[in-house]
Amino acid sequence: MRSNIFCIFHTLSSFTTRSRLNTRFPARTPLALKSSMPSIPFFGSFFGSSASNNMASTSYPDQRTPDEWRAVLSKEQFRILREKGTEPPGSGAYDKHYPKDGVYTCAGCNAPLYKASHKFSSGCGWPAYFDSIPGAVIRHEDRAFGMVRTEIVCSNCGGHLGHVFKGEGFPTPTDERHCVNSVSLKFTEDEQGAKKEDEGK
Ligand SMILES: [Zn+2]
Repeated sequence: MRSNIFCIFHTLSSFTTRSRLNTRFPARTPLALKSSMPSIPFFGSFFGSSASNNMASTSYPDQRTPDEWRAVLSKEQFRILREKGTEPPGSGAYDKHYPKDGVYTCAGCNAPLYKASHKFSSGCGWPAYFDSIPGAVIRHEDRAFGMVRTEIVCSNCGGHLGHVFKGEGFPTPTDERHCVNSVSLKFTEDEQGAKKEDEGK
């Protein structure tokens, strides 16, 4: 039951995130102001969401631009992976997905992130993992909305995965819950194939 408090908390903040992102500054910039902004990339990241600030300040091996990501991701994948959105609870393809073997890769860049053996049932409405493949996930402090949470992103492309919560009392080896959006993930049973694809980049 304790974890349900976190789940509800997460859900509320997710919807706030969405409405906040819909009113991002660049979309409302008057044309006259835009023409006086020679350094648009800087200006854009300064006034954009905290999401874009974070991504700009960390260097990831996969350095695709927002336009390049838009070309390869669906609208929903872009909203979640690149703008730190959240899928509605209980809606994801991998929420109740418990394969025996296989690997979950980043839906953006295909880097292997989680093994099937890391997954557990949290009852939260999002896929839950107690650990990741070593080095696959990077943690950032997320101070949005007046609270401190730990955001997790793909270490290869910086794509937003979700948040990690600690000490909730789940009977797992780490007592951590990586709460990940299904939209941020792809599943493959071929663990070796996923690794090779990643190494070939
Ligand atoms: Zn990635």
